[in-house]
Amino acid sequence: MKSEGREKAVVIGGGIVGVSTAWHLLRRGADVTLIDRDEPGRGCSFGNAGAVSFGSVTPLAMPGVLRDGLRMLFDPAAPLRIPLHYLPKAAPWLRRFVRASRPEEVKRLAGALSSVLGHAMERHVDLMGQVGAPELIQRRGQLHLYPDEASLGKDKMSWALRAEHGLRIERLKRGDILALEPEIGADYSVGIFTPDQGMSINPYRQVAAIVADFARRGGRIVRDRVAAIEVADQRVRAVRGEIASYDCDHAVVCAGAWSAQLLAPLGYDIPLESQRGYHVMIASPGVQISRPVIAADRKVFLSPMEEGLRVAGTVEFGGLERKPSRRRAEFLMQDVARVFPRAQLPNDWSFWMGHRPCLPDSLPVLGPSRHQGLWFNFGHGHLGLTMSATTSEMLARAVCGEPSNVDLAPFSADRF
Ligand SMILES: Cc1cc2nc3c(=O)[nH]c(=O)nc-3n(C[C@H](O)[C@H](O)[C@H](O)COP(=O)(O)OP(=O)(O)OC[C@H]3O[C@@H](n4cnc5c(N)ncnc54)[C@H](O)[C@@H]3O)c2cc1C
Repeated sequence: MKSEGREKAVVIGGGIVGVSTAWHLLRRGADVTLIDRDEPGRGCSFGNAGAVSFGSVTPLAMPGVLRDGLRMLFDPAAPLRIPLHYLPKAAPWLRRFVRASRPEEVKRLAGALSSVLGHAMERHVDLMGQVGAPELIQRRGQLHLYPDEASLGKDKMSWALRAEHGLRIERLKRGDILALEPEIGADYSVGIFTPDQGMSINPYRQVAAIVADFARRGGRIVRDRVAAIEVADQRVRAVRGEIASYDCDHAVVCAGAWSAQLLAPLGYDIPLESQRGYHVMIASPGVQISRPVIAADRKVFLSPMEEGLRVAGTVEFGGLERKPSRRRAEFLMQDVARVFPRAQLPNDWSFWMGHRPCLPDSLPVLGPSRHQGLWFNFGHGHLGLTMSATTSEMLARAVCGEPSNVDLAPFSADRF
């Protein structure tokens, strides 16, 4: 099975997580095939907000999430939407989500998240330097906006935890906000600035740049839909696609929101949900910003991308098959008008929807599995771009038997 003594690895999924994992495996000497059913980078990694938020160590489920969630359920414009018909399907996931919001659990999860988020900025800078596209990662901080002190107060625990884990935070008044971003509308009077965080100015081009370098260095890219992972005697033998079968010593599942369905036939029951998110691109908004601006009350990111202003956000349950909803994107356009009253909004606009791969405890599934040679790196939720630079290297190290000081136990698939 080995080619010229090199371990054969197949990486399933060409999003930012899969391509980074494939790249790190190749650099460690493995013979690597990257398989995607589509062109790499066309999944969730295509349209995210680009924020490299290494300080976001707080899980999504925080104390009070049940109360806030119930309130949002009955507000059609709320950043969270669960269609009524989907509630029974989502209920087991939601129960786990609420359980993860207990204060002591939040502290534990923040510690685990910190171990995969820390140094993400440096890792992105390093990787993009090595693949020849250093310009894609920029560090000009992130600006979080709140209408008033009361709304900032609701996130008090979250900011305290982030600071506890080392994130540098500056409290801003209206004047400080305008000094950073003069176009911010009057609805926002307080803010938090995190000067050390950064962004990718084109997440799709980031994937493409890593893939191009992977190919240049001898990695193989295959377009095929993976139908099954073949095992015998508790060991991976091959990855079977619709077009061909790929023998391997190691198979790494990086199929984002589709990972759990690939693993179910092997007996893994992983509560992975898609949290569908949307973006709208405005090529000429008529306002200029220098960094991601986050309207924290609306949970919306406004990011200055290479190709214009991207407004991204919304959490919508509904699974992998349901069609995107234009209504969700319309709310994003309203958010732009609120944050940037002077923005010129086009009448004719299109939108994009992507599937965030979410586990109820906000941790990815990362590391070895119950089958020898089968590895997992998926479920990065709202922070997959950020974490990809760290989890891909950790996974590659684990596959290649290199020592690591990060404990992968909290990320095991067996935690559910
Ligand atoms: C609106 C929005 C904003 C976001 N903003 C941010 C942000 O600012 N910062 C941040 O860090 N994260 C952000 N995220 C989250 C981030 O985009 C995701 O966590 C990340 O892209 C997940 O990457 P992935 O590689 O796991 O999945 P994907 O990019 O979805 O890749 C999975 C790949 O697997 C392939 N695949 C699936 N099944 C098969 C199969 N059977 N055979 C072959 N191929 C298969 C798919 O074609 C796809 O290419 C955002 C997400 C959304 C939706």
